[in-house]
Amino acid sequence: MSAEHELEVLNPATEEVVATVPAADAADVDRAVARAAVAQRSWAAAAPADRARLLRRFADVVDTHIEELAQLEVREAGHLLGNARWEAGNARDLLLYAAGGAERLLGKQIPVPGGWNVTFQEPLGVVGVIAPWNFPMPIAAWGSFPALAAGNAVVLKPAETTPLTALRLAEFALDAGLPEGLFQVLPGYGHIAGRALVDHPDVAKIVFTGSTRTGREVMERCARLVKPVTLELGGKSPNIVFADADLKRAIDPFSFLDNSGQDCCARTRILVQESVYDEVRDLLADALSTVVVGDPADEKTQMGPLISRQQLDRVRSFVPDGAPALRGSAPDGPGFWFAPTVLTGERHDSAAACEEIFGPVAVLLPFTDEQDAIRLANDTPYGLAGSLWTRDLGRALRVSQAVRAGNLSVNSHSAVRYWTPFGGFKQSGVGRELGPDALAAFTETKNVFISTEGPAQ
Ligand code: NAD
Repeated sequence: MSAEHELEVLNPATEEVVATVPAADAADVDRAVARAAVAQRSWAAAAPADRARLLRRFADVVDTHIEELAQLEVREAGHLLGNARWEAGNARDLLLYAAGGAERLLGKQIPVPGGWNVTFQEPLGVVGVIAPWNFPMPIAAWGSFPALAAGNAVVLKPAETTPLTALRLAEFALDAGLPEGLFQVLPGYGHIAGRALVDHPDVAKIVFTGSTRTGREVMERCARLVKPVTLELGGKSPNIVFADADLKRAIDPFSFLDNSGQDCCARTRILVQESVYDEVRDLLADALSTVVVGDPADEKTQMGPLISRQQLDRVRSFVPDGAPALRGSAPDGPGFWFAPTVLTGERHDSAAACEEIFGPVAVLLPFTDEQDAIRLANDTPYGLAGSLWTRDLGRALRVSQAVRAGNLSVNSHSAVRYWTPFGGFKQSGVGRELGPDALAAFTETKNVFISTEGPAQ
């Protein structure tokens, strides 16, 4: 078989081949979309309570396979076992939450003269979901499950490096009794299967999560068909630490090391008020020196490998030998390892301070006062997330209003919750996922006016 017809899945901690799976081409996408369109018609016609019941059954099947899914994610993505269990649980929980949404997808009755006016939230049809490799299960779930609950069919293309947990989720959907063809997973290359899904005239919407560069292309191609998109793209999120903050909590290194820094919300720009800069640098140096990096399957490990050699090379390119930095340690030998690193000699406009590195690397930058902190925080084309730390309530409110980003945490580095909205400002994305309005992104609003006028007297 040629390289374009299959995907080799490597264990990033050992570089061993975990599996080889067929890669879909444009004809496979065509067939999948045709099957999905058939399944979608009966799914949309089913009673909301029946859709909800099947999605809850799907959640039950996922629940009984949490450990299997987690172990698989450790092998294909190098995720820590504890994190991978959380991720599988997140997919289950979102199914249950979205199932309730199917029963509550309400229209409106709007008073008008001469009749009744009602609105309906109708499903779009077949939705294409394109996922990245950094959180294969949650991101597949966030794009797909609210779409299913709203009455759509989904064709999901996982990332080249991480198709395995998504394939299992599709099998669990069938085990739970979801109609054949309703939720299909098509592993494949972005430029082949991904593009075919984006360009397909019978795919009514694309939900894309990945880099801003690819997201831009997806949006351009969708524009030709006036196809709606949800885009969840890159980030370069600030962690703003004022001098009055609880410094130890504020500089928690897992705010940028979680998932080896391969997290779109990683707080990789640590902005520190200059009066506490030295103290923060010393605290960070201590914290990095204790981070346990190694085998992701060992429950004592705190940080695993990067996803691939390509990603390792990219991360290395931002950290030249001899760059002023605080560093932790990483294993030698096979696997894609990079030590936790905080660069201390960067200017705020350097490549490391501006570009999304997507590895365990942050920059430490001083600021003078509140206005300077806001200016630096917003001096980026991204706007996905951020944290700010201060005991001054007024300042917390002012800064959280001034920072242009979709997901902010005050005195916390909180993770994404499936019941609150998530998405980016500026070049971090278009639209929102999750939260109480998640299903609305997968519907068209239809307005119907019904005349109450009687026959002419
Ligand atoms: P990527 O853009 O390279 O790939 C993402 C997906 O798009 C993959 O499935 C890939 O096969 C597919 N793809 C590639 N080229 C395509 C094309 N021309 N047409 C259609 N599909 C195509 O991104 P990645 O390296 O897999 O993921 C890392 C990026 O994802 C980072 O930038 C990160 O910030 C971002 N991300 C964002 C969020 C968010 O919610 N905002 C969450 C996770 C990751």
